[in-house]
Amino acid sequence: MTAEIISVGTELLLGNILNTNAQYLSRELADLGITVQRESTIGDNQGRLADFVNEAKARCDLLVFTGGLGPTADDLTKETVAACYGDTLAFDEEEWAKITRYFARSGRETTPNNRKQAMVPVHGRKIVNHHGTAPGAWFEQDGRCAVLMPGVPSEMKAMWTESIRPLLLERQNCTLHSITLRVLGGESNLEYQVRDLLDHANPTAAIYCKTGECEIRITARAASDEDGEKMCRAYARKFYDLLGDAVYDEDVAGLEETVVRTLKEKGLTVSTAESCTGGMIAERITAVSGSSEVFGYGFVTYWEQAKAKLVGVDPDVIARYNVVSAPVAAQMALGAAKASGSDIAVSVTGVAGPTGGDAVRPVGTVYLGAARGKTVYVKKLFVSRPDRALVRARAAQAALELVLRLAQGRTPAGTKPLTAAQQHDTAVLDALDAAFLSE
Ligand code: ATP
Ligand code: MG
Repeated sequence: MTAEIISVGTELLLGNILNTNAQYLSRELADLGITVQRESTIGDNQGRLADFVNEAKARCDLLVFTGGLGPTADDLTKETVAACYGDTLAFDEEEWAKITRYFARSGRETTPNNRKQAMVPVHGRKIVNHHGTAPGAWFEQDGRCAVLMPGVPSEMKAMWTESIRPLLLERQNCTLHSITLRVLGGESNLEYQVRDLLDHANPTAAIYCKTGECEIRITARAASDEDGEKMCRAYARKFYDLLGDAVYDEDVAGLEETVVRTLKEKGLTVSTAESCTGGMIAERITAVSGSSEVFGYGFVTYWEQAKAKLVGVDPDVIARYNVVSAPVAAQMALGAAKASGSDIAVSVTGVAGPTGGDAVRPVGTVYLGAARGKTVYVKKLFVSRPDRALVRARAAQAALELVLRLAQGRTPAGTKPLTAAQQHDTAVLDALDAAFLSE
């Protein structure tokens, strides 16, 4: 099946809003195995819209519209598309009653132009909107279809998942199953590693980049969900073979979820000592329900005095190596573990910018520490784009990765360990500091 996505709205053309609906629908249609051939944006103009629809209808099987279903005079999509598909609209008492109730609930009264929203296709079908007033519509002529959804993204997505997607699946005579692998590391490297697996028709696999990690979504079309699951599982195995444990989990909302679950499974607790992330690591951990089982203390030690007072960093160490350094990160982590009694502690100290960097420690330089037992692992992270929000987000992500690896009983990648004896050996710390500075 071939499709085109048509976004209706002058405000899109004026650049007032970003067309997130088209992005969402492109991805969803690809998942259904429907080939999207074109995406277009049309202003609220009946003549131009009608011309466009007549052309597009001749080119492909399915036209997917969003926007212009509202009550105002510029909302013209429904009547225009109806005419192009040889259909008309009729007033629907049931929809009207719904609209009136909806208004009454919010203490408002309907106006005559609201009646426009209660107009539904005579030959096609109306698509119920459970999250707003404007129903969607489905038109069909000579095996070619048009589906109309509201412009408001939350209403559109709900209508898509509740009604349109199932209708299209039924037409395609199949079900969909997907697995989302969560992978640590950057996109370009990952894409190169798995390049041979991405060009596959069923299951499909697509990479989506996030901060400090990527998502690989594997989707299979099959006659039954069971078959789909088997196909996804077999295909996922190929990714595991290539990527090993860089794949940290499946179908989770984020790394923090895996971290909290792993800590729980192992019966471990964690604490944090954060400087440039200002509590972001603690925020992510505590966003997971049930995190109180594994997390009791988060120290935000932004000032040097706070690092000394709350997590026992030695001011002489700060003076000798700088506050943004591996020895300080090590002491912060060890100090947090000691002050909280946690099994694992993680720390971050860095230059988030845009000011404060210099030639030795440019903006984006971050040191992390992760303590477990008597050993502390230190790591340097450099974020080359001097973007404060990005530096902080990458640092928090890297810290969670350290916690996960320590909880799994593994040595975190890219870290240098300091044993209890080495932690107070100036020669060792000097060499460590020099090694990181020359990286
Ligand atoms: P309403 O009943 O609110 O008028 P509608 O179906 O007529 O809904 P529009 O008027 O086109 O839809 O858009 C309503 C709002 O939805 C817009 O102001 C905009 O914020 C958002 N919106 C519309 N189209 C898109 C799009 N393609 N991508 C993202 N947001 C959109
Ligand atoms: Mg509108």
